Amino acid sequence: MSANRPFLVLLLLLASQTLSSCGKSRVPERIVLITLDTLRYDSLISSMPNTQKMAKEGLSFEKAYSSSSSTQPTHASLFTGLHPWQHAVTANGMILTDNYLTLTESLLDEGFETRAVVASFPLDRKFGFARGFEAYDDDFTESGPANTWNEHEVENQNFHSFARGITDKAINSIDEASNDQQFFWFHYYDPHAPYGDAAREETGMEEIGLPKLLKLAVKNPPAQELDAKILEVKEAYLRDVRFLDKQLARLFDRLGKDKTKWKTTIVITADHGESFGEDGSFGHGRRVSAPQLHIPLILHGPGISPGIRKDIAGSVDVHKTLHALARVAGKYPGKGRDLLAEDTRPPVAFGMRRTFLEPGKDLQKIDGKWQEVKLGGNRFFRVDQNNLYSGNKEDVRNEDSRAENVALPLQGDLKAIFSIFEDELNGVKSSRVMDEDTRRKLKEMGYVE
Ligand SMILES: [Zn+2]
Repeated sequence: MSANRPFLVLLLLLASQTLSSCGKSRVPERIVLITLDTLRYDSLISSMPNTQKMAKEGLSFEKAYSSSSSTQPTHASLFTGLHPWQHAVTANGMILTDNYLTLTESLLDEGFETRAVVASFPLDRKFGFARGFEAYDDDFTESGPANTWNEHEVENQNFHSFARGITDKAINSIDEASNDQQFFWFHYYDPHAPYGDAAREETGMEEIGLPKLLKLAVKNPPAQELDAKILEVKEAYLRDVRFLDKQLARLFDRLGKDKTKWKTTIVITADHGESFGEDGSFGHGRRVSAPQLHIPLILHGPGISPGIRKDIAGSVDVHKTLHALARVAGKYPGKGRDLLAEDTRPPVAFGMRRTFLEPGKDLQKIDGKWQEVKLGGNRFFRVDQNNLYSGNKEDVRNEDSRAENVALPLQGDLKAIFSIFEDELNGVKSSRVMDEDTRRKLKEMGYVE
């Protein structure tokens, strides 16, 4: 037996070496989700050279739309893969229930270390977005508009943080993480009103609040006066966007340093855009119009072929795509699609299927009336209660522009479809009895499962 002992030791040694080399052979991986609050698609193109560089190296979507024009409903869609009327965070100030597993929880279950740094109170841990995160930094540095926000107390009156601090914390978080599978979420708030406040440290220029613009707009001033004010406000907004881009560059550099050691996938998107009068409104959260919904969406990393995609994508698709990148697609259901999968057919309809505004007393004025849909080809339609409006532009302008379009009666299947969605939107489960033919047609169009 003693003659066999050295052989046994050798075997054990070999086995342990094999095991350790197996352990080392797995390339460590990072998945980094970056959400940029209130970032319009066109400002990415015009004012974010560093982020644009990421877009050019990666895959970017020309027609990505947020799930809502508010912070919490869209973030809840990103993390659950559900539409707002399904995950029930239909407005800011609501709490994401634990009825649904979040992206973070599933990645944690799959062995990822999970860490987040968020930049504003709507994503405070009290609203449920911290679920599944092992580290969640919601320690805001800048004072807020008041002591309360949507009836919630804003502790210490701090409401948000600027990008420099978020990037500092993000880099620290990356440095501190120790697992060889890591999921990060970094949220930036700078483009949000007031405008020019984040950039003030660099430019020394005064910030401009949204109320100033609104006060002027309701006075119905001469168009020239309003246009000049809008231009001034927009320029202040872009100062913050440029500041944000510089701070993002520091984060991209940090992640890039590990390029040879780590497989890093970065997803960059926004929770909604911002209106500067194009749709007859200012700010966000009150309309489901293109300026408020059209957002950047960029996927960057090894194995992602660079390019520009022209099919319609939505916030709701990020959930399935990130699960696929973590190689656990299919295990965690959601309503979106894997944007990197072979099947890149555009969703046949866009409108209530993809975006949402909380039903309210002005529902008839805003939601359900102005929706964009895509029904074959590349044409866009605007839909109200009874009519389809064909249009060549994806922009939803103010109501006056409707006259330029041709009204088509909304009837038959389409009428049934939108009735069903209006019921869903109002939280009423549809009681309509559909015959097999209608069900089949709706299924073909992607409306029912
Ligand atoms: Zn937001």
